[in-house]
Parts: sequence; C-alpha cells; structure tokens
Amino acid sequence: MGGEAVLAQIADEVRGCTRCALAKRRTLAVPGEGNVLSDVLLVGEGPGAREDATGRPFVGPAGQLLTELLRGIGWEREDVFITNIVKCRPPGNRDPEPDEAAACAGYLERQERALDPAVVVTLGRHSLQRYLPGARIGAVHGRLSRSFSGQHVFPMYHPAAALHQASLRETLFRDMRGLPAALLDARRALDDERAASVQAEAVAAPAPEPAAVVDDAEQMTLF
Ligand code: URA
Ligand code: SF4
Repeated sequence: MGGEAVLAQIADEVRGCTRCALAKRRTLAVPGEGNVLSDVLLVGEGPGAREDATGRPFVGPAGQLLTELLRGIGWEREDVFITNIVKCRPPGNRDPEPDEAAACAGYLERQERALDPAVVVTLGRHSLQRYLPGARIGAVHGRLSRSFSGQHVFPMYHPAAALHQASLRETLFRDMRGLPAALLDARRALDDERAASVQAEAVAAPAPEPAAVVDDAEQMTLF
C-alpha cells in the first residue's frame, strides 16, 4: 500500500475506534488531514467543539490562527499534514488523560511512518511531551530539536494559548518564521545521514557504480 492508502486506512479505523473513553462522547473522530506527500507534520492536542462537529482538525478559532501563521510564511494548510495526539474531543476541552493519549498513540505512530516527515511541529504541551519528554516549551520553542528516536522536532506554543494571552501571538509568528529554515536544516541533516549510510554500505560491499546522492535540499518545496 502507498502512503495515501495507508493514511486512508488509518483514518477509517480512527472513525470507528472505541479504544478509549473519549469514543463515548464524541460526535465525529478527527483523524487528521493534509498533504500526504508533505515533509511537515503538525501535531496538536485534541479536537475542540468545531473539530468534533466537522471531523476536521484545527477548524475553530485556534485553527484560524494556525492558518494565518502558515500563510505568514507563504504556506497553506493543504501543504502540510495536520493531526492531534488524541483523535476524539475531550469533554469540555479538558486535557487528554495519559491513558487516552496512550490508547491513541498507535494511530499517530502509523501516521508518522506513512508520512515520514522531515520535521514534526508540536503545537502545545501535550504534543511536545510525546516527542521531547520533560522539555519545557519556554526553553525549546522555535528551535529545531531531535527526539530520542531521531525525529526532527520544531516545538511551538499552541495557537489557542495566543487567543487567551495576546503576548504569545508575536512569539508564535516569530517562531513560525523560523520553520522554513528549520525544515532545510532537517533535510540537510537527513540527506547527510543517508549519504553516510550509503557510503558505509558501499564500503561494506563495494558496488561498481555507487548511486549518486542528489542534493535537492536547497529547493524550498514542501514535498
Ligand atoms: N486544538 C487542537 O489541539 N487541535 C485541534 O484540532 C483543534 C484545536
Ligand atoms: Fe480511539 Fe483515539 Fe478516539 Fe480514543 S481518542 S476512541 S483511542 S481514536
């Protein structure tokens, strides 16, 4: 199965999922959406009221700000892939419980594998904790980090936080402006690592004509 078919299959499973208590009170599950070829995966916390009503991620007030943030760097929502830590709305927009996040984690892991993004942008605390356990958002936001499993992570505040605390708005826009450069850095690092492993393989088993490593890291496309 190609990435698109895998993602569609995951979305179908999510829509019918009853693995945790959030299933009981949801209207619609919100699997996530976006460009299946994108190198950028955005991970929020969980659906709010409007997401629950529509089955789509980040379509309420926080989503409007997220769309503005992306447009600020010349990107559209459709250029990236957007999902959440939990796919069903926690009642009253409470934080997801650890057992709910754990029950839902398998879907996100499979989405990550299918998308294989160069950068994961975490939106808010819960998403940050999944990739960089123990990290403090105040210390790490707007900078490229690497998770224990080697993923490139670009932590941001949650857009909803800026709706309550106006001073965070400017921080969010500033951090977002750093994302394109972070994406290039991540791609370069991944290209270097791939080249090194191709070289290591060539040393282990010399090929007559080793494949050239194409360096297209300078191209500012999203996929
Ligand atoms: N907040 C989130 O974390 N995710 C959404 O999808 C919407 C609001
Ligand atoms: Fe299933 Fe995740 Fe929804 Fe829980 S939150 S019911 S694990 S899809």
